[in-house]
Amino acid sequence: MTDSNPSVTPKHAFRMPKGWEAVIGLEVHAQLKTESKLFSSAPHAFGAAPNTQTTEVDVGLPGVLPVLNEKAVELALRLALALGAKVQPVSIFARKHYFYPDLPKGYQISQYEEPYCTDGAVPIELDGEARAIPLTRIHMEEDAAKNIHDDAVTGGGVTHVDLNRAGAPLVEIVSTPNIHSPEEAGAYLRSLRQILRYLEVSDADMEKGQFRCDANVSVRRAGDVKLGTRTELKNLNSFRFVERAIASEIRRQVELVEGGGKVLQQTLHWDDRSGTATPMRTKEQADDYRYFPDPDLPPLRVEPALLERIRGSLPELPHVRRARYVESFGLPSYDAAVLTEDRDVSAFFEAAVRLYGQPKTVSNWIMRDLLATTTEAGKGLSELPLTPEHLVELLKLVDAGRTTAGSAREVFAQMAKTGERPEAIMRARGLEAVSDSGELERLARTVIDANAAQVAKYRAGETKLLNFFVGQVMKASGGKADPAALREIMTRLLG
Ligand code: ADP
Ligand code: MG
Repeated sequence: MTDSNPSVTPKHAFRMPKGWEAVIGLEVHAQLKTESKLFSSAPHAFGAAPNTQTTEVDVGLPGVLPVLNEKAVELALRLALALGAKVQPVSIFARKHYFYPDLPKGYQISQYEEPYCTDGAVPIELDGEARAIPLTRIHMEEDAAKNIHDDAVTGGGVTHVDLNRAGAPLVEIVSTPNIHSPEEAGAYLRSLRQILRYLEVSDADMEKGQFRCDANVSVRRAGDVKLGTRTELKNLNSFRFVERAIASEIRRQVELVEGGGKVLQQTLHWDDRSGTATPMRTKEQADDYRYFPDPDLPPLRVEPALLERIRGSLPELPHVRRARYVESFGLPSYDAAVLTEDRDVSAFFEAAVRLYGQPKTVSNWIMRDLLATTTEAGKGLSELPLTPEHLVELLKLVDAGRTTAGSAREVFAQMAKTGERPEAIMRARGLEAVSDSGELERLARTVIDANAAQVAKYRAGETKLLNFFVGQVMKASGGKADPAALREIMTRLLG
């Protein structure tokens, strides 16, 4: 999904109905970044032709056995450790039974009573305040296949099944009911997605279905301790949808209860275009999935040595990095949030600062010019031929007065696209600063001659007019006059 806002969500926009409190718990499915599926050797690359990424295991043929993907376990553990969760030394894979065309075996392999980890928390920041949303658990499970109802694809009236996704490795991250506003839910999801990406546990691209969210919502009178009856919202395909759906559901529940009605425990399908949630099914009790331990899979045992190795390889997390940028680079928290949004961008920033110092100058160039380039190109930084050395060379050309700040932006745009060195671009495009004193003096005299009235005022003591004269020469030079040399010449000629 495209969402370039920094992970720090801005001001509260939703107004909670007076006297009420909302309670929200989120269930997120994230697809693990592995080559192969959770229990088979088939790949699960996005966008492959239907039914080309399957083995006997994914199709559910009898007599085949699932084999647990070690890499998937490692990634799941990485997430658990990064979120401070408790990893269980032994966990169990269970069969969850239901009947649907997207499930060839008739059951999904998941974890139920004994998930691989419990507890932990997701750090969030909202309105400048940091807090942590505690988790109930994280478990591993295989994805279901995909039913395709789209008439354009199926030719109308039929449903096709694409088994490419069947068995893809997922983690389900379940929050405790401790989120209290749509914005807080948004902040939670942005933070979690960012952490998954920092850890390289998941690409967490919502548009590719690699990050999916269900929202459980209930309301209660302010001060009540007992939880209200919840509904579960499905089909939340973007962070904006999640926030809108939750806001709308809170209002609906409050109006319902204030009107003497009762919230039914339901699963609701959110339609963002109409802004309404329609009941899919009403559950009086938990669905009966007839869970039992999968006899084909041994219990998962996690050795302490493995945990230690993974712990040692964890990167600095985004919220820790943000704080460090404010503390040790003296950056505003807005800059810190923008720079740490993407791990590649933040590595670029740090490398440039190591070479050049001046964190705020580097930050300005990245926030203004570099991110404009990536956004415009629709590419990640790693896909551009630009290195920190490029930026630093350019900044040094500006410092040496060899090009102006204005021309440097033009050089930047070009080098970000082509990877050419800034000096070569500057020469080829004639973007060198004019620092030749003869040439500057000639331009300065022309401007002085054409502005007799301003010259008189300047000489009468209005010295702030110097900026006016410098500006005029700058314009006449096509933005290329070396500002320091020019000021000096101008002051001399006017004085
Ligand atoms: P299930 O497995 O049936 O979906 P869980 O008890 O595992 O149910 O809860 C799923 C999610 O619902 C969790 O994120 C939890 O925080 C949330 N939740 C549970 N009760 C409530 C409630 N009364 N209001 C809001 N969210 C709730
Ligand atoms: Mg649920």
